[in-house]
Amino acid sequence: MDSKTIKCNKCNNDAIIFQKYSGMHLCRKHFIEDVERKIKLTIRKHYSIKRNEVIAIGLSGGKDSSTTLYILHKLFGKRPDIELVGISIDEGIAGYRPDTIESARELTSKLGVRHIVRSFRDEYDTTMDKIAPQKREKGACSYCGVLRKSLINKIALEVGATKLAIGHNLDDEAQTILLNHLKGDVSRMVRLAPPKELEGLVLRMKPLRHIPEKEIALYAYLHDLPLGFGGCPYAHEAMRKEIRAMLNEFEVKHPGTKYALLSGFDKVSGILGREYPQEGLQKCIICGQACTENVCQACKLLKRDQSYNK
Ligand SMILES: [Zn+2]
Ligand SMILES: [Zn+2]
Repeated sequence: MDSKTIKCNKCNNDAIIFQKYSGMHLCRKHFIEDVERKIKLTIRKHYSIKRNEVIAIGLSGGKDSSTTLYILHKLFGKRPDIELVGISIDEGIAGYRPDTIESARELTSKLGVRHIVRSFRDEYDTTMDKIAPQKREKGACSYCGVLRKSLINKIALEVGATKLAIGHNLDDEAQTILLNHLKGDVSRMVRLAPPKELEGLVLRMKPLRHIPEKEIALYAYLHDLPLGFGGCPYAHEAMRKEIRAMLNEFEVKHPGTKYALLSGFDKVSGILGREYPQEGLQKCIICGQACTENVCQACKLLKRDQSYNK
């Protein structure tokens, strides 16, 4: 059968996507409506937006973060009491990061959203291009992730953000849930649950957590948003790659697997949180950022604690 003849289940237009998990063929208009409806629901359910909020968006310039910004701007851009701020981090990865930061810059200026760009070089006096070839205790992604998260949180606090939106989609969430299970990492599972307020940490929100990656890509394409093909040259989380392949295979054979994994996790995460309460946070004695011990992960990775004690 010619795919062009398949009609939308909600109207008489041609379908542009078949959602195997819902059994629905959707046209452009109804697909966009469906994505935005799910995102509104996610925000209402997990992260209620109050009056006078500053929402920071971690903006890598790829399809997920660009879509997050685009949709938050669509939902809240006209509210005079809500401010959106895009935050991009230049980790110092030549041939990769400059392009995505340029995409982020174009999008924020098109939408009229404030954009802050800060670099590892200025903040930490190093770059991922310097860190990656060194002998390290952990993978390059751990360094990059810890340092980036710490810097984004710092900037979000500086601009008075009350929420920090990140572009994790359904695939990311499902992979992380399964990864934590397979590693038996309960404390990471607790941290994955929709978070509660902790002093010194801007509340993270994931508006895209109920949207499959493929649909984000289609949504981004339909809205002429950056697609960000070509990944980070240092990324090789071997186990995540295997899990990603396995989940995609499962999704084909058993549509709805990724949603099932997420909703099952959401059902038990409350119990997990009570059984394993998150530790209260204190301030890092070196940089002042919120952390669970007296020295934060970022300062430990940068070996700032060693020179501090001398
Ligand atoms: Zn339709
Ligand atoms: Zn620190």
